[in-house]
This record gives sequence, structure tokens and C-alpha cells, in this order.
Amino acid sequence: MAKIGINIATGSLQQSEMIVGIDLGTTNSLVAIIHPESKHAIALKEHDSASLVPSVIHFGETGMVTVGAEAKEYLVSEPERTIFSAKRLMGKSYKDVQDHADYFTYKVHDDDTDSLVKVQVGNTFYSPVELSSYILKELKQRAEHILKTPVTKAVITVPAYFNDAQRQATRDAGKLAGLDVLRIVNEPTAASLAYGIGLHANEEKTIAVYDLGGGTFDISVLHIHDGVFEVLSTNGDTYLGGDDFDRVILNYWLAQAGIQPDEIKQNKQLMQQLRLASEEAKKALSTSQNFATDLNGDRLELSIEKFNALIQPLVERTLAACHQALKDAGMAADAIDEVVMVGGSTRIPLVKKAVSELFGRTVHDELNPDEVVALGAAIQADILAGNNRDILLLDITPLSLGIETMGGLMDVLIPRNAKIPTRASRQYTTQKDGQSGMRISVFQGERDLVKDNRKLAEFNLTGIPGMPAGLAKVEVGFLINADGILQVSAKELRSGVSQQIEVQPQYGLTDDEVEKMLLDSITHAKDDIATRALVEARTEGEQLLSTTENFITKNTSLLSAAELRETAAAMQNLQMALTMDAKDLIQEKIEALNEISRPYAERLMDQAISQTLKGQTL
Ligand code: ADP
Ligand code: MG
Repeated sequence: MAKIGINIATGSLQQSEMIVGIDLGTTNSLVAIIHPESKHAIALKEHDSASLVPSVIHFGETGMVTVGAEAKEYLVSEPERTIFSAKRLMGKSYKDVQDHADYFTYKVHDDDTDSLVKVQVGNTFYSPVELSSYILKELKQRAEHILKTPVTKAVITVPAYFNDAQRQATRDAGKLAGLDVLRIVNEPTAASLAYGIGLHANEEKTIAVYDLGGGTFDISVLHIHDGVFEVLSTNGDTYLGGDDFDRVILNYWLAQAGIQPDEIKQNKQLMQQLRLASEEAKKALSTSQNFATDLNGDRLELSIEKFNALIQPLVERTLAACHQALKDAGMAADAIDEVVMVGGSTRIPLVKKAVSELFGRTVHDELNPDEVVALGAAIQADILAGNNRDILLLDITPLSLGIETMGGLMDVLIPRNAKIPTRASRQYTTQKDGQSGMRISVFQGERDLVKDNRKLAEFNLTGIPGMPAGLAKVEVGFLINADGILQVSAKELRSGVSQQIEVQPQYGLTDDEVEKMLLDSITHAKDDIATRALVEARTEGEQLLSTTENFITKNTSLLSAAELRETAAAMQNLQMALTMDAKDLIQEKIEALNEISRPYAERLMDQAISQTLKGQTL
């Protein structure tokens, strides 16, 4: 079914479904797309409302679920029904989070410390995956509303340090929200894409991404080369961010008024008002020198100098983490080519100043720091959609690539998870005398037999000049360029005949198919080893039969009648064994035939050598 929609953000007709980029943040989340006309990445927002959706979910008594700014209003009044920072719980067990148990104002279930955490609201339990899916569902709905078209495909970002379980959990949350998650991308990678860093062939850079959000701080050092983003090191503090800046302001105001924090903790309404006022002050001081407001008749004031002094120790902590990250990456600060600022808290002038001093350079802050990750995700989505042919595909090979060799075996040239671009080559030879062609069949997969893998392409190398078996040298080369296109070439090195083809390996398979193929390779690993051994024994047996046959024909006159008879019998036995699925039997018969032929083969060899020494050729 073809879907046609009118894109409200751009006013244009939209024929094909677009892939959106999503920053699923701890504090705020948002969706970005590539504007179909301008081709620039833009954050989606409705009219005058904000692009950021607070990552907060409120479960009302009546079963009403709200997400975003509306839910945020319940943070103080209904803390046990209002879930924030669900991202911190992704892929975690209670043991992982118990040190920070008092950070969560809602109930994080702790019955069994080893299993994955659940959040309890009333009598209902929610997994972090479900909680994140509420946020993603909200983002999907907003995007559909703005774009006036269904949104079902997305790229979602995660912190660079997220492990497999956390990435998988993020993927699952997407699935649960009705999204086909085409790719999980590292947040620092997305941020640098938003700045166009890493989008050019032959570009080699080392960059630092400084991400200070609402509750977390991450510093990543990336090495970018030909479109491949390699994480050299990550550091940070998962409990340090803008919320802490708000808290120091709040505590300062309380101290000014001579109030102990504990004294007013019970007054939830006042606490919420103070919390909001302190965040407002912080934001205002990013662009002005003074802040003042009135709260229930009391005047709250803060100067930029006081604010800077209050947050200085917190900023210092982020700098220490930067030094550590540089050290782990084995880099000096001045070896960093670019510094990218990410996260709403990097709007603070003191933070910018401290970071640019540390790295001794101007930092990238031209884009909205709380939007850059989503913008980069949209760029990645656009590359996946194939809309931007000039730029690189940032990837690794999901499955091994190889060719079929004797007996239907898979010979891997490029293993799975190889970084692209990459190349590999290997030499093969002919099996028959005078063989003039060679079929090159290209496969993708992890199984030992090509029949269990996926055939990508096949071609014939023809015109090999006649020569004895084993003499031709055919070099097969695999090259995956930065666009993810595989080029296969075959060249007979003695004669120079060559041929090559192009295949597109990645796109035929969905993630599920790749997963299934990997799973199959594990399930069948034992069978595969046995089959490979059988096939190898058979191939060896067939080759031995053929070389023995040749030898006998050429040297009949030099062999005794007994030798000829015994050899014929052993050959027949081997021939018989080859028809059976019995590796050990085949090997036994190979050994037997070798036993018989070895003495006369050696004898003839010695004769040949002595004749050569006498200056004669055989
Ligand atoms: P996350 O990545 O954790 O989801 P964001 O990147 O959206 O978070 O950052 C949210 C934080 O940024 C909040 O603490 C918010 O108060 C802070 N912030 C937003 N705008 C400003 C500003 N103008 N000045 C200072 N801090 C800001
Ligand atoms: Mg963020």
C-alpha cells in the first residue's frame, strides 16, 4: 500500500516513509528528520512548543498515562507515580542500581537482586523497556501528528558505554512502541555527524565529545577514519548533571534564608516551586549576569559570579573525567582535532570556557546542544534510507563473507564484525588438469557449509590457460568500500586473466534474519564441525585418488605388478569409503593407500633426483 502524506513541517507531499532519528535521553527525548527540501536535519516540534519532550511518565490513579511536560508537573506532588530517568534502569539488575536507590523517588523493585529491575506503581510492575516504550510511543505519535504520515522506522541513540543488554533493551523498547529500529547509534557518533564530522572519505580525525545533560555526564574520545567511528575511550559520571546545578542553587537560597533543607522537605509544593525557580535561574544565567524572581512574596536572587562559584566544584569533576578519558585513549589534549559540546548544560558559559581551556581550542557549540544527538540520528537515518549517496556508511559487517571451496565448504575471507572499509584476499588453485574456468560463489553467513549460508553472487573466471591441476594461482579479492558495497575480484596470477563483480551485502537482510543466522550458527556448531571434517576427508580422498591415478598412468612401466595390484585394490577401497558418510573410514583408507604408494613414490623420486644430479632430466 502506497502511503502519501502532506508534510506539515515542510508543506510538501511526502511519498515514501521517512526514517526518523530519536534521542532517547535520560532527561529529555526528541525526534529529528532530514527536511526533504533543504536536506538539513531539523528537530520536530509543534508550532511554538519545544522540541524536547521530558523523559517523564506519570501513571494516574485512574489509569491515565501521560508523558512529557505534563507528567513532569507531578514529579513532586506524586513522586511514587511519576517515573523519571527510566534510561538509567535499562538492562540493569537491582544490584546494579541499589547504591543509588534513594535517587529514585518511585519504587524500584528489589525482591531478587540478580534479575532485571522493575518499577512498581500501585499494583502494577513496569520493566524499564516498557517505560521507555511509553516515551517512544509518545515521540512516534508527535512525529506522526507533525508529519501527517505514519512513522514506523527509526534510528535510536544510546550512550557509547551502553553494553549489549542495554542496547538490546533499547531496541526492544522501540519494537514495543511499534518502531522498526534500523540502527542503534552511539550518542557521540550522532553528535559528530550533526556537525558533519566523519562524513567524508579519507577524513581522519580524533575528536572529543563532551556531553553534560540533566543527570549524566559523558566524555568520549573517538577516532574517525574513512567513515568508521571508533570509540577510543569513554569516561564520565552517571550521577552528575544539570540537576546538580539546580540543587546547589536551591540549597544556596535555603541557606540564605536560614532554612535547613530537611525542615521544608515535607512541603512538597514549596520544594517543587523552588526546584523550578532554581532551574529557571540557571537557564537565565546562561545569557544574563543576574537573576531575580519573586516566590510567595520572597525575593530570590543570584548573580553569575555566585552561580559560577557554586558550580565550580561540579565542573571540575567533569574536567577530571576528561583528563582520564584522554589518558585512557593515549592522547594529549592538544592532539584532539575537534571538540563537540552536547547536552543542555553545556549552554552554561563557565562550562564552555572550562572545556575550551582544557582542550586549548574553540569548541563546537553552533547547534542546539540538546538537539545535536537527535539531528545526528536523523542524518544516520537518511544515510540508511539511501538518500545520501555521497556519504559513507558507518558500519561493520554483520555476517562473515566468503566463497565456496571444494566440497561445498565456506571459506571466510572477511569475518563478521570487521570494520568497513576493509579488504582481504586469498589464493586458490585448479583441481583438474587443463581446467580453463573457475566458478566463484560468494556467500554470507557463519555456517561451515555454504548450503546453510546465503548466496550473494556467483561468477565464472574464464580463459585460464591450460595447465596441470594445482598450478594455476587464482587470487580472489574481497573489498568492502565505505558504502558497504562488496567488490569481488578473481585473477589468475600466471596469465593475468581477471574478472570482478559488485554485490551489496548488508541490505538484503533484516536484523531479525541476521540474528537468526547467527543463532543457527551457534545451534549447529557441533554438526558443522562434524560435517566440515567429513567434507574435508572426502575432498582429500578424491584428490588422492586423482593424483594416484595420474601417477600410475605416467609411471606404469616403472612399477612392479604387485605394486600395481595393491594400489588398484587400495584405490577401490577408498572409492567405496567415499560413498559413505564415514569420516574415520575415509581417513583409514586414505592412510592405507598412502602406505602402499609411499615406498614406490619415494623410490621414483630418488631416481629422479639422482638423474637430475647427473645432469639429466626425467
Ligand atoms: P539528557 O541528555 O540528560 O536527556 P539534556 O541534554 O536535554 O538532557 O539536558 C537537560 C539539562 O540541560 C537540564 O538540566 C536543563 O536544566 C539543562 N539546560 C537546558 N537549557 C539550559 C540553559 N540554557 N542553561 C543551562 N542549563 C540548561
Ligand atoms: Mg543526552
